[in-house]
Amino acid sequence: MTAKEVLELAKKNKVAVVDLKFVDLIGTWQHFSIPVEEMTEGLFKDGSGFDGSSIRGWRAINNSDMLAIPDPKSACMDPFAAVPTLSLICNVVDPVTRENYDRDPRYIAQKAEQHLKSTKIGDVSYWGPEAEFFIFDQARYDQTSHSSYYFIDSEEGIWNAGHDGVNLGSKIRHKEGYFPVAPTDTQQDIRSEMILEMQKAGMMVEKHHHEVATAGQAEIDIRFDTLVSTADKMMMYKYIVKNVAKRHNKTVTFMPKPIFGDNGSGMHTHQSIWKEGKPLFAGKEYAGISQLCLYYIGGILKHAKALAALTNPTTNSYKRLTPGFEAPVLLAYSSRNRSAGIRIPMYSPSPKAKRIEVRFPDPTSNPYLAFSAMLMAGLDGIENKINPGEPADKDLYDLEPEEAAKIPTMPGSLDEALVALEKDHEFLLKGGVFSEDLLESWIAYKRTKEVDAMRLRPHPYEYFLYYDA
Ligand code: GLU
Ligand code: MG
Ligand code: MG
Repeated sequence: MTAKEVLELAKKNKVAVVDLKFVDLIGTWQHFSIPVEEMTEGLFKDGSGFDGSSIRGWRAINNSDMLAIPDPKSACMDPFAAVPTLSLICNVVDPVTRENYDRDPRYIAQKAEQHLKSTKIGDVSYWGPEAEFFIFDQARYDQTSHSSYYFIDSEEGIWNAGHDGVNLGSKIRHKEGYFPVAPTDTQQDIRSEMILEMQKAGMMVEKHHHEVATAGQAEIDIRFDTLVSTADKMMMYKYIVKNVAKRHNKTVTFMPKPIFGDNGSGMHTHQSIWKEGKPLFAGKEYAGISQLCLYYIGGILKHAKALAALTNPTTNSYKRLTPGFEAPVLLAYSSRNRSAGIRIPMYSPSPKAKRIEVRFPDPTSNPYLAFSAMLMAGLDGIENKINPGEPADKDLYDLEPEEAAKIPTMPGSLDEALVALEKDHEFLLKGGVFSEDLLESWIAYKRTKEVDAMRLRPHPYEYFLYYDA
């Protein structure tokens, strides 16, 4: 859509207000609104000013004025405003230099797309994220925090009495949430409502379903798209999912591990590179992939510990990456194995469908930064011909300890991931995609506001362990 077409769309929909959205460093949409009369063609060039001083992770500069420059391609009607409101996603620009703000995650993603082209390896990358999340009502949410702290070693702690024969009717049995129809699945309609809103906002949805965790875990998969567009869509996805839940007096969490002892929420990310209309990941090697794809895998696996600081960026992320819950721990690849960090899906024999599924990312990541970082790691693998080793086709959760010890693992904590990123980030700086400044501020923010903040606080579970010590 061009600027002119956006103005026409606004007229057609009797728009009164235009909402300008941009993403902060951590990955949350921030916004402000202007009356529709202020939206001229010039707005798409000159932007609209706002005070950027209180945005998380951004520089506390003396002159904190910034400009939001809307991208006309992102235009859609805001699904949740009662007043007819047009939504636009913006880039952030310094009003003095007119340069893109170097901590604007969307700008980093745009640079990553450019970088791919400049390497001549490919001209476009495709991204298909599969985000999972929990839908809770207030009562269950309260119960959740209680249960996950105290009822630790007992399956009963996971609020379902199903296994002892009591009240089986329409209760999801522990770890069998995946797929029984209603009335066991109580969230069919709410997920359907979510995907209808996504479609209205111009997103292509592939499927929705209940996920494995008992307590109302859901998954909605959107159709793959290019890097920046997919990250934009992930922002709209979260916005829609949370606001539809709100309509029903429910809340949604993308926390990777809200419930102890049950499955967590990942954001497996399917990805591939194309050149001149040809899929570069298809070939004659293992599982129908190309040598180039193997090197891409090699790059992701080599840098995975550092990547984790961006793809698994919360202290809670590492509570998900434990054996037994379909979340990966070991850094290996396989076509069958869902316990490997990277899987090569075999759903379709078509070379066009050839892609890899990186399974460790989770939905607390900032999609612009997470996708860009994975692309940079994969490209580094291709440029340096990094061999990923042999595939791991066994169930990696069941390996003999000596065998398992040979395979590298994801970091065990956010702290560890941040240290890994400090040591290993040259690959992110190539082509000026990420800057040292951005990575340093990311690490500092995560360390002080999250890792240290958690470490300094007495944890409720410590009361269970130590109160009577
Ligand atoms: N919930 C699992 C995870 O944490 C993934 C389940 C699946 O294979 O979709 O990654
Ligand atoms: Mg899933
Ligand atoms: Mg998947």
